[in-house]
Amino acid sequence: MDSKQALKVGITGGIGSGKSTVCRIFHLLGIPVYSADDRAKWLMEHDYVLQSKIREEFGQQAYTQEGGLNRKYLAEQVFSDPEKVKKINSLVHPAVGLDFENWAKEQQTPYVLKEAALLFETGSASQLDKLINVSSPLKVRVARVLMRDPHRSEAQINSIIDQQMPDEKKNELADFVIKNAENKLLIPQVLEIHQKLLNLA
Ligand code: ATP
Repeated sequence: MDSKQALKVGITGGIGSGKSTVCRIFHLLGIPVYSADDRAKWLMEHDYVLQSKIREEFGQQAYTQEGGLNRKYLAEQVFSDPEKVKKINSLVHPAVGLDFENWAKEQQTPYVLKEAALLFETGSASQLDKLINVSSPLKVRVARVLMRDPHRSEAQINSIIDQQMPDEKKNELADFVIKNAENKLLIPQVLEIHQKLLNLA
């Protein structure tokens, strides 16, 4: 690792585990956070190389006349077709990986965070120096998402959970685990990891 570069730390966790909440605490400590999911959406509309690959693979209809992403069409294309899901991921993830590398080089802090719902599943964990998993009991996650996203049903949330790597597996693969259950305080856990990462960097 280049000593002048910030340590790259990935933070993940299943739907509703509390990744974004934990990232807000790191952000308050002055740590820059790269949101892979938000940035992927942005790149699909603003990265011309990626756009042309998506058009090539999914047709001109993938974009509207005004140049915006035709989310409805793409969602229909990938719906229940695992090969097409793989295809779109194989186009988007490398673009996000490159964008993250460029972003990380410009940061001036000892370490930076990359937040992604699918960090292990996409292989992007290998791009990172350390990994944090935010872990919450399934029941708590479902209840929190139902409160946060009233448009989602319990069945929809469970189907997303089924598509993600099990929490136990992610805990095994991670260097640090933040437990976000109802009886656990988040801030002391974040402070402890923050200190360890500063020491490492
Ligand atoms: P997603 O993968 O869906 O983006 P996430 O892992 O980023 O989810 P958050 O959005 O941070 O999860 O948390 C899910 C919901 O649970 C939010 O409404 C958040 O405010 C709430 N929440 C998270 N942690 C706690 C906590 N410790 N106590 C109470 N509410 C919490």
